[in-house]
Amino acid sequence: MVEAGRIRRFLEGFRWEDVEPRPYKEEGSAPFKAISRQALFCDRALACELRFFDIEPGGYSTLERHEHVHAVMILRGRGACLVGREVRAVAAHDLVTVPPMTWHQFRAAADAPLGFLCMVNAVRDRPQLPSEGELRELESDPKVAAFLRGAAKA
Ligand code: MN
Repeated sequence: MVEAGRIRRFLEGFRWEDVEPRPYKEEGSAPFKAISRQALFCDRALACELRFFDIEPGGYSTLERHEHVHAVMILRGRGACLVGREVRAVAAHDLVTVPPMTWHQFRAAADAPLGFLCMVNAVRDRPQLPSEGELRELESDPKVAAFLRGAAKA
């Protein structure tokens, strides 16, 4: 349990003292690859959670959208992200804001991990996955299509 006033040391391998890395999501619940999650802060009064996601080289988060927003800070590595129709290379200390109901995905570079902090509401709606039609819509943009194939420059 998280106690007030605790100091957790940063450990080798982008871990924090007494924080257990967990699977990103339940296996088979949505498409994703090579990604783990550590819950760093979760406080009832703050009503938000701060998590650290670590994507191995070549891995990616789920392509999804939802009503809640994400405030993301890249902490290590390199990769690319999709926010709406915008595809951008990202690296340590870049900030990414994901607005409500906006398609988004994070991909690590082929030769580097991508680790980032993500702040979300403690109580939040479930992510939605794109339908076939929505996926076709997204892929109609060549830059987005290249990103989704994992071919975007990072
Ligand atoms: Mn999300």
